[in-house]
Amino acid sequence: MTVIPPGSIIGILGAGQLGRMTALAAARLGYKVHVFAPESMDSSCGQVVAHHTQAGWHDLRALARFADDVDVITLEWENVPTYAVEFLARHIGVHPGANVLSVAQDRVAEKSFANKLGIGTAPFRAVRNLEQLTQATAEIGLPAILKSTRMGYDGKGQLRLNPGDDLTGAFDAIGSDEAILEGFVDFEREISVVTARQADGSILSYPPVENRHKSGILETTTVPAAISPDVAAEAVRIAEAIASELHVVGLLSVEMFVTRDGRVLVNEMAPRPHNSGHWTLDFAETSQFEQLVRAICGLPLGPVGVIAPCVMTNLIGDDVDQWQSILAEPGARLHLYGKGDARPGRKMGHVTRPTV
Ligand code: AMP
Repeated sequence: MTVIPPGSIIGILGAGQLGRMTALAAARLGYKVHVFAPESMDSSCGQVVAHHTQAGWHDLRALARFADDVDVITLEWENVPTYAVEFLARHIGVHPGANVLSVAQDRVAEKSFANKLGIGTAPFRAVRNLEQLTQATAEIGLPAILKSTRMGYDGKGQLRLNPGDDLTGAFDAIGSDEAILEGFVDFEREISVVTARQADGSILSYPPVENRHKSGILETTTVPAAISPDVAAEAVRIAEAIASELHVVGLLSVEMFVTRDGRVLVNEMAPRPHNSGHWTLDFAETSQFEQLVRAICGLPLGPVGVIAPCVMTNLIGDDVDQWQSILAEPGARLHLYGKGDARPGRKMGHVTRPTV
C-alpha cells in the first residue's frame, strides 16, 4: 500500500463543512490541503486552507493543474461529476473512485447494489412518467415516498404519497422526472454506520448511532444507538460488505432503518464523512475526518472506540444564534462552520454533549 506521508498535499473536491473538518484533521497530522470547488475562497472549507482552486467541474485545465499540485485526492461531496473524477484519476489517486460515486449518486443504483448483495432495502421502482408511477404505486402500495433519483439531500426532492392522493404533478413537486418510488418503511429507528476502508482491504467501523430527522434534515445523533448487539452487528456487517464490494478507499457512511421486527434495511449511502459521524470529533478515539486522512494516505487506521455516550445536535438556520449560551454550558462542544448567511434549513454548525 502506498504511504502518502505527512507534509504531502491532500486535494479535496468540494468546499463545504465536511471539507473544512477534513482539512483541519489533515493539518493536525501535518498535511497541507488544496481544495477544488466552484465556490469562492470564503467557503466553509476555503477559509481554513492555504491552497484553493475556484473552477467548474468541467474545467479540465484547472483540474489538470490541481492534479499536478496534490499527492492524493478525496472528496467531501458525492455528487462531484464522475467525468471529473475519472479525468483526475488518470493523473493521481482519487479516493473514493468514480465506480463508488456512480453507485452512490443514484438512488436506484444504490438500492439495486445493496439488494444484489442480499441486503434489504425498502421495496422500490424506478419511475419516469405518470404511467410508471401509477403502476408502481399499485405494486408497492401507499403510503410511499417519491424521490428524485439524483442530487437529493436533506429531504429535498421528496414527496410522500398517501392513499387517495392525485399523482398528477408529483414529478413537478420533486423537481425531476427521473425518480424512484420507495415503499414507506414504518421503522422503529434510524441508524447509521461510518466505515473506513484502506487499499489493502483493512476495514474498521464506528459503532452504529441513532439519528432523528426533522423535515428530512438530521436533527440529532445519539451515541451509541439503543439497539441489541445482534442488530448492531448486522448494521456493521452491512456497511462493511458494501464498502468491501465497492472497493472503497476512504469512508463509507450508510444510513439504515431498523424495522419493528428487527430487520436492518439500507436507506442511503455516502462515500465520505457523514453528519451522523460528527460526534467522533469530540467523543471517539479517532475522528471520522482523521480516519479519512489515515485511510487515503495509507496510514494505520485509528481506534474507533466511544470515549463517552453523547448526543450531537445540528445547529440549523438561526439555531446558530445560541452559540453564546452553548459556550457557557459545561461539557458542550461547539463547532461552527464559518457560514455567513443563516438561511432556514442551512447547516451552520453542531454541538455535542456527553449524556452521562
Ligand atoms: P433520505 O434523503 O433518503 O435520507 O430521506 C430523508 C429522511 O426521510 C430519512 O432519514 C427518513 O427519515 C425519511 N425516509 C426516507 N425514505 C423513507 C422510506 N422509504 N420510508 C420511511 N421514511 C423514509
